[in-house]
Amino acid sequence: MSAAFKLLKMSHFQEFDFIKSLPSKSARGLELGIGDDAALFEAPGQWAISTDSMIENSHFQSVDSPEKIAQKLIRVNLSDMAAMGCEPRFFLLNLHLSNSWSPEQLKQFKSGLIEELEARNLSLIGGDTVSAKNGPIHLVGTILGQPYLDRAITRDGAQVGDSVFVTGALGGSYPHRHLNFEPRNNWSRELCLNSKPNAMMDISDGLFRDLGHILDQSKVSAEINLDEIPIHPDLQNHHEALTKALGDGEDFELLFTLSPDLNSHLPESLPCKKIGQIISGNGEIFAKKKHDPEYQVWPRLGFEHTTHFNSKPKKS
Ligand code: ADP
Ligand code: MG
Repeated sequence: MSAAFKLLKMSHFQEFDFIKSLPSKSARGLELGIGDDAALFEAPGQWAISTDSMIENSHFQSVDSPEKIAQKLIRVNLSDMAAMGCEPRFFLLNLHLSNSWSPEQLKQFKSGLIEELEARNLSLIGGDTVSAKNGPIHLVGTILGQPYLDRAITRDGAQVGDSVFVTGALGGSYPHRHLNFEPRNNWSRELCLNSKPNAMMDISDGLFRDLGHILDQSKVSAEINLDEIPIHPDLQNHHEALTKALGDGEDFELLFTLSPDLNSHLPESLPCKKIGQIISGNGEIFAKKKHDPEYQVWPRLGFEHTTHFNSKPKKS
């Protein structure tokens, strides 16, 4: 038997073993989970579905902890549900494996996966597992969820006069926090149930780049008060702390706009900060510090995920 053939047999066995050992649990609305050709669930009302991928050497390295990688794959998908104002319900997992992970690492991935699914009350209802000898590991997560309100919150709803808010603190996520961030699903729920935002998204590519998406899709502009940007404590002594807070990726905080009559409905327990307001315009970000005389047009600082591991913030 050639070495290559042995390896293929072994990976095939791993795949089978992997699928067989996945948890198939009953869940609200789920009629049929893992094990058939497709899962079945009952689906009244609006649903949100979203998918996110991670590729070895781009989003993670083969030496990173497989548990943390599994966690992150689930959390980036959870963050998309938070961004839409949706409760996460079902998860699908596509694994394109290669020999860059040992059987032990695959086991660790699975235990991280199961632990995270349980912690988030998320049901794994299917997926696909394939392997090739060489090449990077490629992980794809797909998530389904349902709006906390009657409809999901999209990026195109910002209105002139809205206040612009951001949760948590921004910047400096990479390299230490990005595998270990907390998706803001609980905050999204609280926010939706108390004071319905007009537009919302999660910040994955940098505050100003992502704010640009809300502005473009809502056909408005924004005025931002730079003194109000919540800078992450990790950046306390950084000489470019503000630039990093505006442009670093992978914060996974929520960015939302709220009509001013609802500002007082914001739950007190929600750690968020008003950073500016929506004005009429064509997608410009005007920004200033308190003592600057006037607002100036600001570049959409942001993060290029395609060149993740060796990129610096870029202006677009
Ligand atoms: P098929 O031949 O229909 O693709 P598979 O043998 O690939 O079936 O999968 C069998 C069952 O295991 C299906 O229910 C599928 O959704 C599930 N499954 C396969 N891989 C994964 C995975 N990585 N995560 C979750 N479920 C999976
Ligand atoms: Mg399959």
